[in-house]
Amino acid sequence: MSGITRRGFVKGAALAPLALRSLNAAAQSPVPSERFDIVVAGAGHNSLVTAAYLAKAGFRCVILEGRPTVGGGVKSAQFTLRGFIHDTCSSAHNGMQENPLIKDKEINLEDYGLEYIFPDPVFHMPFLDGAYITQWRDPERTRAEFAKISKKDGDTYWRMWKESENIKPAEKFWQRRLAMSHWDIIRDSFEDNHSRAFMLACPWSQQPAQFPMTGRIAYSPFNQQRHSRPLPKGGSGKLAEALARYIEAHDGVIHTGKPVSRLIVENGKCVGVECADGSSYRAEKAVVSTIHIKHLVDMAPRDLWGADFIDGVNTWQPEFQMMSTNYAASEPIKYPTADGPLSPVHSELLGSPERALRFAYDYAIGAVNLDDPPVHIIQTTVADPTRAPEGMHTIKVVGYHPYDLKEGPKHWDNIKEEVADATLKYIQRYAPNLSNDKILEREVMSPLDIERMNPHNWHGSCHAGGSGPSQSGAMRPMPGWANYRMPIPGLYQTGGTTAPGGSVTGMPGRNAAAVMLKDLGTSIEEVVSRKESKKS
Ligand SMILES: Cc1cc2nc3c(=O)[nH]c(=O)nc-3n(C[C@H](O)[C@H](O)[C@H](O)COP(=O)(O)OP(=O)(O)OC[C@H]3O[C@@H](n4cnc5c(N)ncnc54)[C@H](O)[C@@H]3O)c2cc1C
Repeated sequence: MSGITRRGFVKGAALAPLALRSLNAAAQSPVPSERFDIVVAGAGHNSLVTAAYLAKAGFRCVILEGRPTVGGGVKSAQFTLRGFIHDTCSSAHNGMQENPLIKDKEINLEDYGLEYIFPDPVFHMPFLDGAYITQWRDPERTRAEFAKISKKDGDTYWRMWKESENIKPAEKFWQRRLAMSHWDIIRDSFEDNHSRAFMLACPWSQQPAQFPMTGRIAYSPFNQQRHSRPLPKGGSGKLAEALARYIEAHDGVIHTGKPVSRLIVENGKCVGVECADGSSYRAEKAVVSTIHIKHLVDMAPRDLWGADFIDGVNTWQPEFQMMSTNYAASEPIKYPTADGPLSPVHSELLGSPERALRFAYDYAIGAVNLDDPPVHIIQTTVADPTRAPEGMHTIKVVGYHPYDLKEGPKHWDNIKEEVADATLKYIQRYAPNLSNDKILEREVMSPLDIERMNPHNWHGSCHAGGSGPSQSGAMRPMPGWANYRMPIPGLYQTGGTTAPGGSVTGMPGRNAAAVMLKDLGTSIEEVVSRKESKKS
């Protein structure tokens, strides 16, 4: 699409992203006398969480981010037209709501500008035959949506909602279910294909429905039944901004545009890092990285990692990737319903359960399959009008396609606009109001672009890598090294390559902080018990 400047909007690609560059811009090169306890390599939300706890404990942190802004997958920017604030990657911060950082206000980010919005309706799924299911914040109302289609399915939704309140992996009931595929559970529990499609795609998990050990995913709609799909007011990047503000208010220093290229190892211990521009930063206590393990392993001599670790890196698998297209639009999608047009923040198109079952095969053969493609649509401006000029909207369209095409990943540069066009045509079948004249501008990000944007998205992996049984829990990133301590003493790892994995949960960040604080002679419990007031 050309750089349309209809209706007086200015194309915003060259504008500065909204997320922070550095709050400490004056300190772009190290002052020789500056000393740091902790060097943090990479500034995704997880490593910022780790740094926030360490800073709260009184350790002085320096954070080195390779990109011009902090946040990694938690960023917002005006990359279509001026005034339209798009989330570059994540929008929904569900996982974060269960993190004690937010839940128990262990770190009060509200004092640093973070405010969550909890959209209602939570999720909507329309079908081409005119049926639809809407998930509302009120679980009884969601049950009634299913019951319109099948009374039995309404009752099943309610039963599983109650079961989900008490998942206990050690119990026999759960042992069986967690080992099953989520398709087995959904097919056997619901009788109607609309209900089954909803349960498979709410939210779309990027895990093939028929794979064993994915049973927990059958219960994932209840996570958002509980928390909605919370959005930071003003953009996803507001979480990273609040964390950065907190760290700087606690004597931390953040440098952006500083890709780390090498670990400094002395007497077998990691004591700092060197950046691509030749600058180096030393840590008196520890180094913590969120650099992808596929890259980290090349930043120190191979013999320091040990054979098991190298084997774990060599066998690491990417995930089922996605592409993302951001639209600036003059109105939101309006789905027809019996109660009039509905404009939800989140909606998903999945024509039938069978379509979901073909997903794994398309990835296996490197095919872009545009036949009834599963699509996730996010219109944050419906709940947060601060993100666009008055009356205008942002629409993010996420499609699921492999990075590694038959023709190779570079082929994405040839086909991405065509794939986005076909996906838009498909959406217009469900939402005819989104005609081409309502679209002011768009930016298409293929799985290859998603990797180019952030090296932590290795091979287009939005969550750093697959989260099947071989890369989960005690196997993430690999057996023997799942406790955030790396084989080189003094070096720790956090971020999506560590447990519990990707998404905006902040849990890898908090877990790494807990391990580091213990090794540094204190504990996370002691640190969070300290009362503090807002610092500026
Ligand atoms: C299109 C898209 C939509 C998504 N939607 C959602 C959603 O709605 N909800 C959700 O929960 N998740 C979503 N995700 C996933 C989520 O954004 C990520 O899993 C999460 O942000 C990862 O956080 P992290 O802290 O582990 O790592 P990252 O955010 O990837 O941060 C790693 C950081 O390290 C930096 N870095 C890497 N190498 C170096 C180096 N050598 N030197 C210096 N810095 C370096 C990177 O630049 C980056 O800033 C989405 C992802 C994408 C791509």
